[in-house]
Amino acid sequence: MTMEVLGCDGGKQEGKFLVTMRLGDRVLLDAGSAASLSNEEQKAVEKVLISHAHLDHVHELGFLADTRLSQTDASLEVYGSRAAISIIREHYMNDLLWPDFSRIVMDGTPAMIYREFVDYDWLELGDGLAIMPVPVNHGAGGRGFLIRSKTACIAYSGDTGPTEDIWRLAAEQENLALVVVEVSFPDGMESTALASDHLTPSLLATEMKKLDRDVPIYAFHLKPWFRHEIVRDLSRHFIDRAVLLLRGERIEF
Ligand SMILES: [Zn+2]
Ligand SMILES: [Zn+2]
Repeated sequence: MTMEVLGCDGGKQEGKFLVTMRLGDRVLLDAGSAASLSNEEQKAVEKVLISHAHLDHVHELGFLADTRLSQTDASLEVYGSRAAISIIREHYMNDLLWPDFSRIVMDGTPAMIYREFVDYDWLELGDGLAIMPVPVNHGAGGRGFLIRSKTACIAYSGDTGPTEDIWRLAAEQENLALVVVEVSFPDGMESTALASDHLTPSLLATEMKKLDRDVPIYAFHLKPWFRHEIVRDLSRHFIDRAVLLLRGERIEF
């Protein structure tokens, strides 16, 4: 399985792309930059798994739905926690700010179908791909994921402050290959990170002690304006074990 990084930044400015990962051709993890895909690639997407309903993670969900509507009869399945789905329905695709695509029905098929996660359960997505949603310490219905292919497993933190379950469950996966984890702020802004339920490199070091597995760390969701400080602090704590995730990168697992 391939995880392709379409966007991995924690803020929007020139050359930066909000969080979206593509698993194979048919599944997206978050939709911050979903519309950066070509028309044909957007048509091929069947499922979008939303980590949480903050704007930087759902921003282009509505544009993806719009692109697909006139070009394919297939429904777009949108998965999320109950809280995340209700926020999207009430505050985004509510027929006010943007159409409610779940109520647009063509030939008996709704353009969009919402599906609620079952936490701590593996959700089979085809081609040997499965994900397990795990509640994390973040607002808007935040979930991290274990992502399993036929051969390996990735732990994906989503947005989170210090948390427990995702690391405990990741440690139980014998074939854990790597972790993808958010690091939004530099060490000097720990109080801001904690107040907004995010991590710094120093807080990440504590999280990785909970995991207690010597696997590569891919950091993402950096606030672009603090990038240099975050990179400096990451290398102080992790030397070369932690690397930055980059747009266009393809992780095979
Ligand atoms: Zn968030
Ligand atoms: Zn975010």
